[in-house]
Amino acid sequence: MRRIGKRSVRKKGYVTCFTVWIRAASTPRTWDFSITTPKLGGYRYKTIKLSNNSLRRFLVACDWDLSSAAARLRDTLQWRREYKPQHVICHRCRETPGCHSMRQVGFDKDGRPVLYMCFAQCSTTEQTVDGAVQHVIALLENAAKSSDQESCGYVWVLDLQGFKFFSSQKIAVAIEKVVSKHYPELLEALLVVNPGLFFHTVWHAMRRFIDQNTRSKIHLYRDKPRLQEKFHNLFPCELREWLFNEINLNLNSQYPKAQKTFWKYNHGDMHDPRGCASYVQKYVDNITLADYEDSFDRTFHLPHKNVLDEVLLRGKFKACGMKYH
Ligand SMILES: [Zn+2]
Repeated sequence: MRRIGKRSVRKKGYVTCFTVWIRAASTPRTWDFSITTPKLGGYRYKTIKLSNNSLRRFLVACDWDLSSAAARLRDTLQWRREYKPQHVICHRCRETPGCHSMRQVGFDKDGRPVLYMCFAQCSTTEQTVDGAVQHVIALLENAAKSSDQESCGYVWVLDLQGFKFFSSQKIAVAIEKVVSKHYPELLEALLVVNPGLFFHTVWHAMRRFIDQNTRSKIHLYRDKPRLQEKFHNLFPCELREWLFNEINLNLNSQYPKAQKTFWKYNHGDMHDPRGCASYVQKYVDNITLADYEDSFDRTFHLPHKNVLDEVLLRGKFKACGMKYH
């Protein structure tokens, strides 16, 4: 097995390994990576351009082992060709609105998509492993479309209010498997809020089974001052306030109905559970027919399936006689 360091890649300039060619650009700080897959399972692929960061992510995930990174990249390309994740929609959410609450709600200070999920908002009895994986794939694919960042990394705020360990274990393992295999090193930070004492204990037992790099990105917040400080450093004021409102409302013992139907918004309410104002304005309320059609060409971000359904089925596109699936 061949292991290379970042520095040795830079010095060597050209490295060839099976079907991957990584070419160093003329300046040491910029890289022009390209990948050509002449044959994969007997099928001839076109040359596929990948960004520097995409290739770097696979190398980092494989601890800079070039052979492993190349194999993993080939697997992912094959998976993308067969599974077509860019066209995935969550059927569970369509059949059972609110089945999954994980959704994009805005961007952090660096323009990275911010995802939020609260167990109290989703239907814990309707969960299936395949459905949850499908939901996460659709979410990550759309998060990447909304980001101007080359890295396409994201920040995830996981609210454990309503969490039940036994019902979530299999789903968490299945999601982790797909994400680490096909979307490596995209997670910039996972902020876990409202972890009960039980989860805290379980986490300390679990953490040694998670690789160090991923572990370093996961932070548990039981006390509010530390959470406030983290949110202040990471999120712009608008999103920070939205997150605190959302988390507080989901903590409410008399659970507000509007929070359970987070994909709807009554314009008389103070808080919009669909996301912070700028995100909703750009990707929800002002979505146009052209934007929606453009999403099939993999360029335009679509929000959570139920948020999208609510906008498209309720109103303006129906009047156009457009078929919406
Ligand atoms: Zn879903």
